[in-house]
Amino acid sequence: MRGSYELYVLIVTLTLVANHAGSVVLDLGHGYRHNVTSCWVPGVYFNVFDVVENGDPDNGTWYTAEQFSTPEHCGTHMDAPYHFYKQGWKLGDIPLERFVVEGVHVNVTHQVNGNPDFMLNVDHLRKWEQVNGAFPNKSVVLINFGWSDKFGDRLEYYKSSTSSDRRFPGLSAEAAQWIVDSGKFVGLGVDGPSTDAGISSTYPVHKILSKANMYSLENVALNGTSLPARGFKLVVQPIKILDGTGGPCRILAFTENKFE
Ligand SMILES: [Zn+2]
Repeated sequence: MRGSYELYVLIVTLTLVANHAGSVVLDLGHGYRHNVTSCWVPGVYFNVFDVVENGDPDNGTWYTAEQFSTPEHCGTHMDAPYHFYKQGWKLGDIPLERFVVEGVHVNVTHQVNGNPDFMLNVDHLRKWEQVNGAFPNKSVVLINFGWSDKFGDRLEYYKSSTSSDRRFPGLSAEAAQWIVDSGKFVGLGVDGPSTDAGISSTYPVHKILSKANMYSLENVALNGTSLPARGFKLVVQPIKILDGTGGPCRILAFTENKFE
């Protein structure tokens, strides 16, 4: 009998451990830094100014404050549908339930293999479903081109130091349309500067997603994360610029598909 009791204790213990396997919280944002975080337009940076530092930290009178300026579309940020569709939601219009969602991770890093002309097409999305099952409803799809490591090195990230001749991976228009037509997604994120490939001058992906009132996340930090293909929650929190076309955005992923 003693043996079975010990087995019982072991099973109970293992069950408790399994139930308490908590989520790991992953930060999917690049940090902003004065004069370092460069934006879409060359030479434009996130900036801090009018820094006030008063008092004495040793006697409790310390006080500091500062101002910052940034384009809406800089660093890890959200594009509101209004960005490319006049009737689309502005940043402050997007329903809150679209900010707490299930995430899926389409990692094509190996297929991209550093090629700035890579284009994600419908086959890549179908392949993901063959391996991982159908995409879940009301989710945000994160496309990992293996580009995040280049963030901070403008020449590597955009393959250009000017506002022309940019080259980095993106989605094909057909893939964007497939994503919209699936009806599964409220948003899409990429770990590069834009959902459209760098060579695009007509931004079809932006237009297709915006018209469907889907938001986009750009410059998402997907490097070095242990993000699974599916089974994780996302908290997506853009700055609340009511009439914004977009804005800086904090993105947290909770593994184990739960918030604890
Ligand atoms: Zn943007």
